[in-house]
Amino acid sequence: MSDPLNVVSLREGRFARFEAVSWWRQERLRNARVLVIGAGALGNEVLKNLALLGVGHVAVADLDHVELSNLSRSVLYRETDEGRPKAECAAKAMNAIHPGTQVTPLICNVLADLGLGWFRWADVVVGALDNREARVFVNSACARTGRAWVDGGIEVLQGIVRGFFPPQTACYECTMSQVDWDLIQKRRSCTMLAKRALAERGTPTTPTTASVIGGIQAQEVIKLLHGMEALTGRGFFFDGAQHQSYTMTYPVNPDCPWHEPAADIIPLDTAGGNTPLTQIAAEATQRLGGLDALDLSRELVEAMECPACGTQTAVWRAVEHVSEDQLLCPGCGGACAPRLVHSLPAGSPMLERTARELGLPAWDILWARHGEQALGFELAADSPFAKTSPANPAL
Ligand SMILES: [Zn+2]
Ligand SMILES: [Zn+2]
Repeated sequence: MSDPLNVVSLREGRFARFEAVSWWRQERLRNARVLVIGAGALGNEVLKNLALLGVGHVAVADLDHVELSNLSRSVLYRETDEGRPKAECAAKAMNAIHPGTQVTPLICNVLADLGLGWFRWADVVVGALDNREARVFVNSACARTGRAWVDGGIEVLQGIVRGFFPPQTACYECTMSQVDWDLIQKRRSCTMLAKRALAERGTPTTPTTASVIGGIQAQEVIKLLHGMEALTGRGFFFDGAQHQSYTMTYPVNPDCPWHEPAADIIPLDTAGGNTPLTQIAAEATQRLGGLDALDLSRELVEAMECPACGTQTAVWRAVEHVSEDQLLCPGCGGACAPRLVHSLPAGSPMLERTARELGLPAWDILWARHGEQALGFELAADSPFAKTSPANPAL
């Protein structure tokens, strides 16, 4: 074992054992910004490690509240947390582990409420998710903002870690099979009543597999932050039944849309969720020499249409926020179908509205297109770190 003359002094600093590693740069971790999506069993392990590692800035996004059944798999939660938002409880527990980690809890549905500014803010994104739809969204957000992301998945004794860095490497969509797309399509094409009924149940998980997979995800974050070779475009599979593991490299799917160079993104420090989109359109027209359309960060429900009687009701919100009573036709009481929109053509009267009025989240990004050119515009005044923004942006 170690030579007693070489043991580290008892008065060593908090991170001395890391700094004893020749290539370790603690200041990179201290200055790092990591966005963690999901604060379930896996997210807990990732977040715990990020606090232990002294990562300086973490944002954690989760919609759920702590339930008793979470306590067997979530090191950051206590019985007294029952009923409280997971993101808030995780932030509090991380600060108890390491007060130097600045944690921003985001109590939100990722698909509907997480502005793409958060992805651009992050150096690395970690997915601790339990469904394909959210992974597809996170993948697209990372591809558009040029961020690497580390996805994890667990089921009983098995787990997987995959790293993606589109456009350079294969991305999550490259790994998807037709079956995966069919399952997502099935959820999307059903009426929203059916969609809700199809809501996925929690997968069976254990804290032990979460430790293994969450640990490897956090280790990938360390490697990415140090500019080391990491698991990008590759997957690590772990089978705890026989303790077998292997890695594989994913090929880029030539049909995947995320392997063209991403459009540049311009932060607009004075534009936010309450800025009329006409201002963004004017800025885009000036910079691109014209404007065909503004593309949105996510699909929105423009209206609900009744196939039986033809009644249309304007909605303008994310699918996830369509209320129960909007699912039924106000005319005949029949089930309505959503009309979805992901782009606003130049000249659309909807450009008179603000991003917030259209149902987009705070600190989002819009993409302007003109011919072959595209440019992103970040509504940066919404950032909680912007000097001019209110202390608590509504999410
Ligand atoms: Zn891809
Ligand atoms: Zn009707």
